[in-house]
Amino acid sequence: MKQDLARYHRQMLLPGFGETGQRRLLKSTAVVLGCGALGSVAADMLCRAGVGRLVIIDRDFVEITNLQRQVLFDEQDIADALPKAEAARRKLQRINSGVEITAIVDDINAGNIESFCAGADVLLDGLDNFETRYLANDVAVKHGIPYLYGGAVGTEGMAFAILPRTGKRPATPCLRCLFGEAPPPGQAATCDTVGVLGPVVATIANCQVAEALKILTGNLDQVSTGLLSIDLWNNSLLRLAVDRLDDLHDCPCCQQRQFDYLEGRAGSQAIALCGRDAVQLRHRQQAEPLDLAAVARRLDGLGTARLNEFMLRVKLSEQGQDYELSLFRVGRAIIKGTADPTVARSIYAKYVGN
Ligand SMILES: [Zn+2]
Repeated sequence: MKQDLARYHRQMLLPGFGETGQRRLLKSTAVVLGCGALGSVAADMLCRAGVGRLVIIDRDFVEITNLQRQVLFDEQDIADALPKAEAARRKLQRINSGVEITAIVDDINAGNIESFCAGADVLLDGLDNFETRYLANDVAVKHGIPYLYGGAVGTEGMAFAILPRTGKRPATPCLRCLFGEAPPPGQAATCDTVGVLGPVVATIANCQVAEALKILTGNLDQVSTGLLSIDLWNNSLLRLAVDRLDDLHDCPCCQQRQFDYLEGRAGSQAIALCGRDAVQLRHRQQAEPLDLAAVARRLDGLGTARLNEFMLRVKLSEQGQDYELSLFRVGRAIIKGTADPTVARSIYAKYVGN
């Protein structure tokens, strides 16, 4: 065995992997969308396994409440005020200097996601909101890139491998086949409001990586076609068959090839409000009125909240910065304390959920 492959010996022993699989893996590119708990486990395992090129995109900085589950980060990253993508790159480069790692500190949106994913062989979902997941799903289907969906909140998690139709390969259902439209803002629980169990996220991320490794080594027939659903606190593990779903559903994305999120017909728009140190977030589609009382209950204890029939106003503190989140029944929000749409989107995704 050649010296450069020695470190991969234990996985090359596996059936279906071998030197051929390893060499394919070393030539491949994986894009990790979001580097929180899911993304840091995924990036760590892919880097150790010897993916050729790793692109890590994340808009946030490392915070003390991340360390309970985000395995790539430590207290020094917080002292150095490092963005997650860069902290991850530095750590991963020490783990495997042979991997070409690109760290991108940015918000993922309709304007930049295609350039971030250019040349990708797989997309790994480490995202914290459904809106960006639907955007990733659009990119995956449009460009025929496998997309490993994963999500975890509370003690539950789900993982699913989306293989778009390319050449003769049959397609799996996509995210819009599975879940329909993205949940309206304020309805999905978030890790910042209901908490999250570390082992659940790590399990889901490792399932995503296992599917990614099958794809990147050319073992497509081994890829799981089921939706994995786990709850490690209540001891349930299910794999739901969804392989016939695409026959039943006239999906706007993978059947009609309408990329509503990518083309700006769906999702939200963030606009800095001139001279007010505030950003407004507005959803493009008409949604059901928000249950502000339910959002207020989830935010109870995280900040000082005031609720009336028109709006919910919460004062929040993040990394020593004070923000005021005003949320209206139509889902529109104004976030005071920043003029940066990236910061505003991050706060909205964490505390309201979209
Ligand atoms: Zn679909």
